Amino acid sequence: MKNYKKFWKLGIEELGTKDFDINKDGELIVREGNYQYNILDLIKKFGAPLEILFPWLVEKRLHNLFETFNYYLKAFNYKGKFFYHYPMKVSQNKEVVLPLISEGANLEVSSANELWLVKKMWEQNQFDSRIKVICNGPKTNYYLSLISELREKNLNIIPIIEDLLELQALINYRGDVGVRVDLDVRVKSHWDKKIDRFGFSWQEILDLGRIRNLKILHYHNGKQVERLEDLVAQAKRGMEVYVKIKEKNPTLDTLNIGGGFAVSFTKKRMYTLDQGVKKIIKTLKKISEKMEIPPPHLICEWGSYIVAPAQITIFRVLFEKKIENSIAKKWYIIDGSFMNDLIDTWAIRQKWHVIPVNFMKEKLSRVWLAGSSCDSDDKYTAGGNYILLPRLDELGEAEDLYIAVLDTGAYQDALASHHCLLSSPAKIVAQNGILMVARKRETPEEVGKLFGW
Ligand SMILES: *Cc1c(COP(=O)(O)O)cnc(C)c1O
Repeated sequence: MKNYKKFWKLGIEELGTKDFDINKDGELIVREGNYQYNILDLIKKFGAPLEILFPWLVEKRLHNLFETFNYYLKAFNYKGKFFYHYPMKVSQNKEVVLPLISEGANLEVSSANELWLVKKMWEQNQFDSRIKVICNGPKTNYYLSLISELREKNLNIIPIIEDLLELQALINYRGDVGVRVDLDVRVKSHWDKKIDRFGFSWQEILDLGRIRNLKILHYHNGKQVERLEDLVAQAKRGMEVYVKIKEKNPTLDTLNIGGGFAVSFTKKRMYTLDQGVKKIIKTLKKISEKMEIPPPHLICEWGSYIVAPAQITIFRVLFEKKIENSIAKKWYIIDGSFMNDLIDTWAIRQKWHVIPVNFMKEKLSRVWLAGSSCDSDDKYTAGGNYILLPRLDELGEAEDLYIAVLDTGAYQDALASHHCLLSSPAKIVAQNGILMVARKRETPEEVGKLFGW
């Protein structure tokens, strides 16, 4: 008998599917310790399309990250501390942010509105003032005033200075600050642009000389960095800049290596957490020794890595349509939209790990997926390849086929839109065996209201 669990790439740590399995009826189940979720049952209860968020999976990944960093700091006798800052833009959902900070994450915000959420948490007594908040993004007057306001309340707010105007605006800031360098290291990633606009060039930074209360050197060169050598090359370059700036800035003691750790969105294995952390710490340790300086405290802001695998998106297959002369044989039209709710499919040709929720042991067909909007771009072809899913004509009338797109927890929610006025999927949160509705399915009225109706 075929090993279906293996075939659908479930139960594999590096693919983020360790807790995913198939039951004897060929249905997808997810195990949170001793709790078990049958995804088909959830669909019957809450309908489709549906987003399911697993905060315990976020927590688990964060623990694993801490463990791995602390293990290698010790192993290499690295005399600096590790801090994780969660980049809030990856998913601002409360059900993601609150568990993370309660489990030891600090934060990184990219806008005044994200910082406003910090203020809100603090006002509601949900926020420990020891949690450090790094502030990136253009510092508008409102953003600056919010930074000062929270600092006055003794929150630990660390603005990152990205240009000369910001340096001026923050010259009298009464707390720690960071500077951002635009590293001249090219990496294999969609986001690696030859010319970008974030931070100072390293020559500019050196020319700044002494910066008051400078604590952190920060870089972030794009997400989903495909090769580990590139992540390490960034760290190496970042450390070289750190050494130089430290000469004039003795208060500098932390290197922030930003985000970019890759997620195995497709079924292809990438480098592992263990390999990545080990290499980075080893590299930084070596340079510190050579330059005879204390190794910097380390911050990472790996967002997608922590959050993407903690959410799945469910669609119902509405019907099929034949495709002539193609590697895929059929369109499967789904009851949701890639363009609206998994917009990276369209924006950056994101590839996904797609599996059936039921009928996982049936005969398969090569298909492309099409969304419910009227747009010819609203589709998923696995990059001009095909997706294997159960053959509809074999399934009978009794039950619909549902599919799950895995690893949808990063970025997709905030980027979502309303093309063709389709309603956003409902969203539920599954934690400790308990299900909570985080967002109801939008009614036509609610969607219309967004457009003034
Ligand atoms: C977007 C962003 C991140 C997160 O990147 P991931 O690739 O999702 O890990 C981290 N830091 C900064 C400054 C960012 O802009």
